[in-house]
Formats: sequence, structure tokens, C-alpha cells
Amino acid sequence: MSDFSRVTRRKFLATTGVSAAGALLLKGCGGNPPSATAPTEATDATAAPGPVAEGGSPETPNIKLGYIPIVESAPLIIAQEKGFFAKYGMTGVEVSKQANWASARDNVTIGSGGGGIDGGQWQMPMPHLISEGIITNGQKVPMYVLAQLVTQGNGIAVAGLHAGKGLGLDLSGTAAEYVKGFASTNGRKFKAAHTFPNVNQDFWIRYWFAAGGVDPDNDIDLLAVPPAETVQGMRNGTMDAFSTGDPWPYRIVTDDIGFMGALTHEIWAFHPEEYLAVRADWVDANPNATKALLKAVMEAQQWCDDVANRDELVTIVSGRNYFNIPSEILVPPYKGEYTMGDGKQAFNDLNAGPLYWKDPKGSVSYPYKSHDTWFLTESMRWGFHKDQLTDFDTVKRIVDAVNREDIWREAATEAGFTADIPQDTSRGIETFFDGIKFDPANPEAYLSSLQIKRA
Ligand code: CA
Repeated sequence: MSDFSRVTRRKFLATTGVSAAGALLLKGCGGNPPSATAPTEATDATAAPGPVAEGGSPETPNIKLGYIPIVESAPLIIAQEKGFFAKYGMTGVEVSKQANWASARDNVTIGSGGGGIDGGQWQMPMPHLISEGIITNGQKVPMYVLAQLVTQGNGIAVAGLHAGKGLGLDLSGTAAEYVKGFASTNGRKFKAAHTFPNVNQDFWIRYWFAAGGVDPDNDIDLLAVPPAETVQGMRNGTMDAFSTGDPWPYRIVTDDIGFMGALTHEIWAFHPEEYLAVRADWVDANPNATKALLKAVMEAQQWCDDVANRDELVTIVSGRNYFNIPSEILVPPYKGEYTMGDGKQAFNDLNAGPLYWKDPKGSVSYPYKSHDTWFLTESMRWGFHKDQLTDFDTVKRIVDAVNREDIWREAATEAGFTADIPQDTSRGIETFFDGIKFDPANPEAYLSSLQIKRA
């Protein structure tokens, strides 16, 4: 890495002052020794050189994709380990673990040519914010959203000291009063954390609090904190809640750190979670390679959803080269088994956990424009990036520039996954647990219907 990029990188990190520490999240998971299970070699039958079905051959077999070691990244790891990338001619894919979300952002800004990455796994709407230069010190790096990687698999954890106060899915009433009144008896506000500001985990916990009548900007302290620090705080009584992803929801209860207030499955069933997005300059220069990449990820997503493969999935992703955690802690979430704690009924439903290809509402993998629109609308709700996200015409312009569902469609068609291609770029009206509806055709109406907002 050049001195210049070192300085630039430091500047980025200093500017945000935030570290998501996805790696720490898992390493800090309870002091267990690293799993001795190494990932399987990519010697599966699927790795055998085969015809690149439809479409031209890839312009390059090489791309560097970043990932954070959490369940959202499984399709990228599986595409590599089970030979799907190779099957479609992408024999030089590098799947590169990122220290945290800020590093992933900085690495995609410099690109693989500068020692960074070409794309990879993102919380939303990071690709849109990077494209517009909003979280990159004004440097616009156009990106394309190519696929959704996963739905669900996230939730809100609450520290054990708040057990018995009714902090469940619906906070309205006594639970909300308890949270809001916490400062008067404890000398500090109720404190909650996520791993990176203004993206998924921040949105999920904000939605949950606000739906129950708790203003996340005024009634509590909500901030970005590395996961290991958050969990330590939950143990010692200085942190009260954590917007987090698998396998934390499992560890929170089994390690006696606290209980689950809600799963994201409960807040918004089959919600958009994390995405595959790649630099636009790479995609524009390598259209066939982009489709090859997508076909491999799609096939990996189908593989991940086959329950017959879930044990192997757990073995591969928990391995030392990837998540580096004991494999047994990933088994329950991949069965949709969540012990909630605090007297709440446990979940035992595959459809409550992470799904990668399809869910009961349609395609998981297809990047619906209506979901990008929700993430940017929710950003407006909370007054994020006010100077840039000024109106819904701007939202539409950004979504149309960044979301490349057309490439997803082409790739799916060429790969023969035609039965699973959605008809429309909108999934239609979305309904949240509190009855609030988001009509992508009328986001203004959604904003007006919300009680707590900064817009
Ligand atoms: Ca997540």
C-alpha cells in the first residue's frame, strides 16, 4: 500500500471514528478456542471445469470481494468453496475478510488496483452512499447493487438486568415508559449500540424503539460501538441493548448476557438485509464476468437454502479461514432456532432465520428497487445525509443509478433460473409489525404515517 493510500485510509477511519469490527464480533464471542475445522477444499464435483452455459466468456477470471465474517457473507464463501465461481469461469476470485465496515468502505474506494477490493458484501445503503461520495469524504465511487445476499438473521438483544420489564417486540406502554424513565433512576440514559451508523442495524433498532414510542435520538443514547465492547458493556451494566446479527442472538442467551427483545424476522418479516455490490467501473469493463459472478452467487444461494446442505454450510463458514468460530454456535440459527429468553417463546422455524435464495414473499437474491427506496426513505426519516437526500426525485435518481436489477435478470435468465425471476422491480407494499405500511409507489405517505421522525 502506498504512503498516500495509508494516509487516505487513516483519514477515512479518523473521520468516521467508528469501527464495526465484524471479525471482533465473532472472535469476542465468548473466548472459545478457534474451531479446528478447516474449510473444505474446492475439490467438489461442481468445481470441475464445465461449459459457461449462456453468455460470453468472462473478460477476466479475477475479482477481489470483501466480506464481514457473519452469516450474511455465506453465499460468497460457498461460491468460492463449493466451486461455483470456478464453474462459471471465475477462477481467480479472492474472497477477502474485512476488519469492519469502515475498512470495507475504504478498501472499495481505493479498488483492488490500489490494494483494496472491487466490491463485496454491504449493509444498505452503503453502495448508494459511496456512489454519491456521502461517506467517502466527497469522493464519488460509483457502485452497482447486483444482488441481495440474505434476509433476516438479525435481531435486538437486551442486557439481562432489564429482564421482567416487558422489553419484547412491542415496547409501547410500560416497557417504553421504563426505557424513557431509566435516566431518572440511573443517572444515565438507556444506552444502545449498533456497529455502523445509518445502515441496517441502526435502522432496525431505530424502527423498533420508535414503533414503541421511544425516540431513538432523544429518549436514549444510540451509538456505534464495536461488538466485543458492546457485549462487555452488556455484561457489566454499562450497555443496555445491541442491534446485532447471527450468531449473536444465540450467544446472548446461552452465554447469559441477556435476552432477545425481537428478531428482525418479527419486526419486518423477510426484510432486505445485506447485498452484493461492485464498483461500477469494474462491472462496466467486465459485463460477462459480472454475470458469471452473479450466476455463481445465485447457485451458492440455492445451495445454502437446501436444508440438506446446512450442516456442511456451517462447517465451511465457521472454519479458520472464514468466521473462525466453534461450528456448534451456528447450528441453531441455521435451523431457525432462537431461544429468546425473558419468558418469551422460542422460535423453531426455518423461515425465522437466514434465507438466501427464496422466501415466502418471493426472491431473496433479486435486488428489488423498492427495497433500495425504503433504505433511502428511512435515511430521510432520520435526517441522515440531509444535504444530499433532499427529496424523492433524488432518491429515485440514486436508486436508478445504483440498482442493477437488469443485470441480475440477465444472469438469472442465462443460468436458467427463469422460474425464480420476479415480474416487477417492486415487491409491492411492505407491512411492519406495528401495522405501518410502506408503499414504494408513495414513500411520502409512509413518512407522513410515522409518529417519530426527523423529516
Ligand atoms: Ca446484518
